[in-house]
Amino acid sequence: VQAKLCRDIIRCANFAALKHKDQRRKDEIQTPYVNHVIGVAHILTNEAGISDISVIQAALLHDTIEDTGTSFYELQAEFGEDVANLVKEVTDDKTLPKEERKLQQILNAPKSSYRAKLVKLADKLYNLRDLRRATPVGWSKERVDEYFRWASRVVAGLKGTNKALEDSLRDLFAERGITI
Ligand code: NDP
Ligand code: ZN
Repeated sequence: VQAKLCRDIIRCANFAALKHKDQRRKDEIQTPYVNHVIGVAHILTNEAGISDISVIQAALLHDTIEDTGTSFYELQAEFGEDVANLVKEVTDDKTLPKEERKLQQILNAPKSSYRAKLVKLADKLYNLRDLRRATPVGWSKERVDEYFRWASRVVAGLKGTNKALEDSLRDLFAERGITI
C-alpha cells in the first residue's frame, strides 16, 4: 500500500515536471514553474498537516489544465476521476476575459469542496509569499498591492478550512494593512 501511494505521488510530480518543463515563474531569475506546484504540495503536507493523497496529487497537477493545455480526460486516464475532478475544480475558465476570471474566483471560492479549498488556500499562500520575496518582472508596487487585495477577497471565501494556512495568510495580509 505504501509503495503504491509513494509511486502515485511521484508519478504526479514527474507528469507536472514534463508538462511545465518550458515554463518559468514571473520573477527576475525565471525560476522553473514546477517549483510552484511542488511548493504548493509541500505547504499542504508540511504546514497544513494534510495526508489525503488525492489532495497532494491535485496540488502537484493543479496548473496543468490551466497552463499546459492538458485535458481533463488525460488526467482522468492517468490519475483517476477523483484527482481529475479536483484539478478541474481549481481550474479557471480560460474562455472568460481575465477580469471576469478573477471575479469568478471570488464568487466560486465559498462553493468549492473542502479538498479544493485546501489546494486554493495553499496556492494563494505560495503565490503571496513569492510576491513578497521578489517582485515579478514589470510589476509596479501598485500591481502587487492590487494582487494582495484581490487574493484577500478569494481567501475570505475559503474561511473555516484549515487554521494553519488561514493564520499564515492572515499574517501576510496584515503586513499590508488588509484584514480578512
Ligand atoms: P497575473 O494573473 O498576471 O499574475 C499573477 C499570477 O501569476 C499568480 O496568480 C500566479 O499564478 C502566477 N505567477 C507566476 N510567477 C509568479 C510570481 N513570481 N509571484 C507570484 N505569482 C506568480 O496578475 P494580475 O493580472 O492579477 O495582476 C495583479 C493585479 O494588478 C490585478 O488585480 C490587476 O487588476 C492589476 N493590474 C493588472 C495589469 C495587467 O496587465 N494585467 C496591469 C496593471 C495592474 P499560478 O498559481 O497560476 O502560477
Ligand atoms: Zn498555482
